[in-house]
Formats: sequence, C-alpha cells, structure tokens
Amino acid sequence: MKTSIQIGKVMGIPIKIHISFLLVLVLFPYVFSKDAEFGFADVTPAPLRYALALTLTILLFSCVLLHELGHSWVAMRYGIKIRSITLIILGGIAAMDEVPRDPRAEMRISIAGPLVSLTIGVLCYLAYLGLGSYGIVQIPTISYISRFLGSIAYINIVLFVFNLIPAFPMDGGRVLRAWYVKRMPYLQATRKAVNIGKMFAIIMAVFGLLVPSAVWFILIAFFIYIGASEEEKYTEMSVTLEGIKVRDLMTREIAYVQDNLTISELLRLMFEKKHLGYPVVDQFTGKIVGIVTFTDIRGVPMSEHGNVLVREVMAKKVSFIPEDADAVDALKMMSAENVGQLLVQDNGSITGIVSGTDLTRSIEVLGYREQ
Ligand SMILES: [Zn+2]
Repeated sequence: MKTSIQIGKVMGIPIKIHISFLLVLVLFPYVFSKDAEFGFADVTPAPLRYALALTLTILLFSCVLLHELGHSWVAMRYGIKIRSITLIILGGIAAMDEVPRDPRAEMRISIAGPLVSLTIGVLCYLAYLGLGSYGIVQIPTISYISRFLGSIAYINIVLFVFNLIPAFPMDGGRVLRAWYVKRMPYLQATRKAVNIGKMFAIIMAVFGLLVPSAVWFILIAFFIYIGASEEEKYTEMSVTLEGIKVRDLMTREIAYVQDNLTISELLRLMFEKKHLGYPVVDQFTGKIVGIVTFTDIRGVPMSEHGNVLVREVMAKKVSFIPEDADAVDALKMMSAENVGQLLVQDNGSITGIVSGTDLTRSIEVLGYREQ
C-alpha cells in the first residue's frame, strides 16, 4: 500500500506527507480554534477562525520541514544522498543513505536540525516581544501575527529541547554517540549511547506513571526504548558484516523445483538436498515464479501432502540482489520487502541464493570471533 504522497521538491529532495499526517490537518486546526491564548478562539466569523488555525498548523509543520532540511543540507555537503523527507504525525523523517562512521559528520548532521529549530524559535520570540512592546497588538491583523509568532516560537523551542534528549532515535542520541566515537570503537560507542537512551526512557516512563498530567511521557518513553534497541541491533549487524559481500555467504548450488510438485515430493527433495530455500519454476515456461521453504509447508496437514502442490504454498514474491552487494544490504532488503530469501544474480544469471538464516548465523559467528 502506498502510504505517502509527494507534495513537492526542495533542494532536489522529494517532500512527502504520510497518511497519518491527515489527522494532524484536522486535529491541530481544531485545537487552535479552541485555544484563546495562542489560538484563535475569540476570532469571528468562524470561517476566519478556522482559516487562521489551519494557517498556523501549516506554518508549524513548515518549521518541522525546515528542521529536516537543516539535517539534509549538512548531510548533502558530506556527499550523502537524501532520498526523501516525509512528514508524519509526530514530526519529520529524512531518509538518507548511510551516514559515514565519521563522528564529525554525524555530530554536525545531527545538530543541524535542532539548530534550525532554535534559530526560528529565538527569532520569532524576539519578533513577538517586539510587537508586544509597541502596544499595537489591539489591531486584529497585528494580533493574529503576534499569536502566530508566539506559537511558532514556542513549538520550535520545544522541538529544539525534545530533539536534544540524549537518546536514540532523537538527534541528541546521535550527538552522544558521535561524542563517544571519538573515544572508543563505533559499536561500543553505540552501546553506551543506547544504554543512556534506555535509562532516559525508563526515567520518563516512571515520571509518566507518577504524574497524572504527564501520562503521554509513557508513550514517548516507549518510542525511545524501541528506537534505542533498534539502533543497537542495526549497528551490531552492520559493524559485524562490514566488508562481507553477498557472494561470501550465499549457497551456490541451487535446486530448482517445478510448481506442480506435490508437498510429499518436495519433502523428499528437501531431505536429500538439505537446502533451506528452493526457487520454483513454472512447469511449462521454466520461468521462476516463486520460492518455497520448509516454513511454507509446515501449515499443510500430513494427510494432504500428496494433493497440495508447491505453487499453492510458495511465496510468490521473488527478490534479486547482485553478488557483489554488501551483506548488510541483503539484510536491509529482506526486512524492507519482508522476504526470507533472495536470489543472487551476476551478469543477468542466477548464481546463488541467500537466506536470512545464513545472515544471522554469520553475524553470530563473526560477532563471537570479535569478542
Ligand atoms: Zn532532527
């Protein structure tokens, strides 16, 4: 399912909005039309009130976009390709190719976003104070501008502080790791930063449990805890698999099976060959139409083994990866496409097959060797 749509391009980067963002476009204007201090509850007629509330929402999310563009601009100067920026319900995500393990680059890229937010916040706050001191906020138009400035200043300062919480997946987590990387190996630095992030998450959760008005802290704590664990897992994998190519891990002899084979026949073959996955070919055209593994046939009752055909249980999605791709990219591809096996290609012909099990086993063995 397509969950985001592109709304434009800035600095050559596609800007997208996620489906969850539609909720923001309803919820935020609603809140701003009810709030009297920074919102527009006192404004009549109602259409003007809603128009102002919607404008404020769009301005706020433009600030989130500017924050992400701040990260992206610095990243691009380090030669990192930015694939897209997506606005989601809780903020923005800049999808970029892997940041090099250079603490300086990571530090600068991570701090750029919060600095953009801080700058906007401070400038808008100064303008807000300036308008207030002239005593002209009684004029409606000036009053609206003043409220825009006040809200934008407030939200940007919140964005600045929130993003600098020293925990993954916040920017502050990356800054912290960069700080550690200058002093120790990358994986160890990540683990340190992850542990501090988890500690923060636990403190936030406890705070959320004790203070009734801070219940939403529990949600953020959960989000941080998961984000921190994922960063650790991912770094472990990419560090361990560093320099290893798909061709180093793949199984070279491939046993093809026809799609009209029965499960009993397939089981016999599996027992004989002891492979994990088998590409399935169409019995007439010889074209690859799927992949079948032992997991796919587990659900078939024993009594049906003679009747059910491979084509009924196989995974129809087949993904390919070049032989010289990095092993970590194979892992990324499997999780992105939700498949357990990839067929390996070299110069247009299939030369092997690689499975998630092959990869995790290598991570275990290599990780053990490194300790
Ligand atoms: Zn950021």
